[in-house]
Amino acid sequence: MLKITPYLGILVIVVAIAGLWYPILGYFMLVVFGTLLVISPLRGRWFCGNLCPRGSFSDFWIAKISQNNKIPPILRSLWIRVPIFLLMMGFMVYRLLQTHGLFNQIGMVFVIMCLATTIIATLLGLFISPRTWCTFCPMGTLQHILGKDRYQIQLKNDKCIACKKCDKVCPMQLEVRKALSEKDCIKCSRCIEICPKNALAFKN
Ligand code: SF4
Ligand code: SF4
Ligand code: SF4
Repeated sequence: MLKITPYLGILVIVVAIAGLWYPILGYFMLVVFGTLLVISPLRGRWFCGNLCPRGSFSDFWIAKISQNNKIPPILRSLWIRVPIFLLMMGFMVYRLLQTHGLFNQIGMVFVIMCLATTIIATLLGLFISPRTWCTFCPMGTLQHILGKDRYQIQLKNDKCIACKKCDKVCPMQLEVRKALSEKDCIKCSRCIEICPKNALAFKN
């Protein structure tokens, strides 16, 4: 996690709320798309755990009031995620085609996408677990596919004492020691930082 990670969540509120009056703010979504497209082939879902404003919003705002239930495993299936990706991208393209290239209307399409997904992510975060949305978010799915097995966690078996502290802090609810080739690890480093035996590290 970076030092700025906890503060990025404010950007979601700015784009989703202030964007209704200032549609130009919606173009910030393009910065987000561009950044994750560049990073994911090198570091998998690192963007999700370190730079995504909604990820930060989930971890540092929603987590304070979440019911922290188990995320339904079905949401992690690509049979669910790929159709959601195609549906949302298709809907966004359809809406963009209706703007006839008008600057503010294009911005508003992005603002509405941000607002709608933030509402869904917030409700899921409150009633299930903070990062529930991130298990099937279209941008997370894209990084899952592009990132493959880049920058994975490595376990030094001889050091591990099976205390399971790593599992308890994982925001994606992964079983860390069984998730060493898990493409949905968001590289947040929490398991590494909490491990009392320094048994975990990222493999470059
Ligand atoms: S899964 Fe989506 S919302 Fe969650 S951190 Fe990644 S890009 Fe952001
Ligand atoms: S926190 Fe470290 S020592 Fe404990 S189970 Fe995880 S890897 Fe093993
Ligand atoms: S396995 Fe570790 S680095 Fe990956 S998401 Fe879980 S806590 Fe973060």
